[in-house]
Amino acid sequence: MTVLLPFDSLELKYTLHLLLRYLLGLDYELEIAPEEQRSVEITLLGGKRLSIAVDPWLANPKYDKSQIPASVKWFKKNNNAFIPEQDLPILYGEANLAVSPDRIDLNADLLSTTFFMLSRWEEHVVKERDQYGRFPANAALSVKSGFYQRPIVDEYAEMLWNMLQYLGIQQERKKWEFKLFPTHDIDNPRKWRGLHTLFRTLGGDLLKRKSPSMARNSWRSFWKTRQGTEKDPFDTFDFLMDCSERYGLQSHFFFLCGGKTPFDKEALPPSHPIVQRIFEKINRRGHVIGLHSSYDAYTDEQLFKTELELLQKHAPQEIKCGRQHYLRFEVPTTWQLWAKEGLEWESSMVYPEEAGFRCGICREFPVFDIHQRKMLPLFERPLILMEGSWMRYNPKSPDRFLEDAKNLMEVVKRYKGTFVLLWHNSTLGFHFESENRKLYERILSFVAESES
Ligand SMILES: [Zn+2]
Repeated sequence: MTVLLPFDSLELKYTLHLLLRYLLGLDYELEIAPEEQRSVEITLLGGKRLSIAVDPWLANPKYDKSQIPASVKWFKKNNNAFIPEQDLPILYGEANLAVSPDRIDLNADLLSTTFFMLSRWEEHVVKERDQYGRFPANAALSVKSGFYQRPIVDEYAEMLWNMLQYLGIQQERKKWEFKLFPTHDIDNPRKWRGLHTLFRTLGGDLLKRKSPSMARNSWRSFWKTRQGTEKDPFDTFDFLMDCSERYGLQSHFFFLCGGKTPFDKEALPPSHPIVQRIFEKINRRGHVIGLHSSYDAYTDEQLFKTELELLQKHAPQEIKCGRQHYLRFEVPTTWQLWAKEGLEWESSMVYPEEAGFRCGICREFPVFDIHQRKMLPLFERPLILMEGSWMRYNPKSPDRFLEDAKNLMEVVKRYKGTFVLLWHNSTLGFHFESENRKLYERILSFVAESES
């Protein structure tokens, strides 16, 4: 199979690599058209051809807000039988195509769309930020246009495969398997760290939450933890590993190990005996230790490096992965930091307010650096669901929570992607939060259930 490019572009090569080679596992030879054209031409061995329109903007992209589409067009099953769902959003080009026995001409520019979703250049040019300096969900085109909970890049790959099959492709496609990655950001390994933590909690129970019964529970928990007759409410590491092991999963614990802002103040250094005991247990049971880089580390190369080195020095495993504290992220700077230190994958990419597919894909993928114009030796393994979205930012009833989680997991199962779940150690064991253990166990149990 040959792929004729209309122009020589690093961005276009990356996008084709992602869709054809990475997602579908197809082999192809690249050729560059002698004169600039408006479409990518994929020619199969027998000469049948798929032509995909592509905007010349992708030849040498200038990132600017004016390049973000004002609205989205939709394919429907009745005008495109190759799409895997009932409809499919198209950000660039037109939602139409021409089909004949020997060729398909696709006027939808799914290449510019795929690049838009994966590179996250949208976040680079839209300067809106929330109170924590994060790109907010409601500034994203995918949220505004209602396709944030669709892995549209995976859907495009599926559509391309259906088209290539119609044209009689001889190659086999790559086989993916659904995976679940439970991850746990360890902002604070212990709730009770002395009397000041008790008084602060009692103050919150009585003044903020106005609950004498919560205050009584706090009092009880503090003294029982002190006497050693009860576990600290944040000491949920055994519970989390027990749950994972029941389903043959590996838990990933990302430790906050430093930082210089009030948002980092609950971290314990990795050399601390409490953290050392936790490390030992995680390591012995075959789970994973990773980095939870501090509040300011997402753009601070020196701070990032110092925290990583500190963790590596005291951890019994090689550190390969992690996530940014508060999901703070700057495109492409934060990816550059992770790649430069030789880490394998990062997992911050979800909007804090709602679960979904911020990069438009439901699995890990190699990232593209829009400044250096190259693919980095780093995978983004996008976070899909964190408990905080539905407990803190956008509260839902437990039933709704479970239903939404199940629906999302079924989407990921259907595309054989990777469902990355974040559940903090600190939201499992205290007050009304003991109910959260049931929620957590129920979500993990979906993994074993077949698609309904
Ligand atoms: Zn955190």
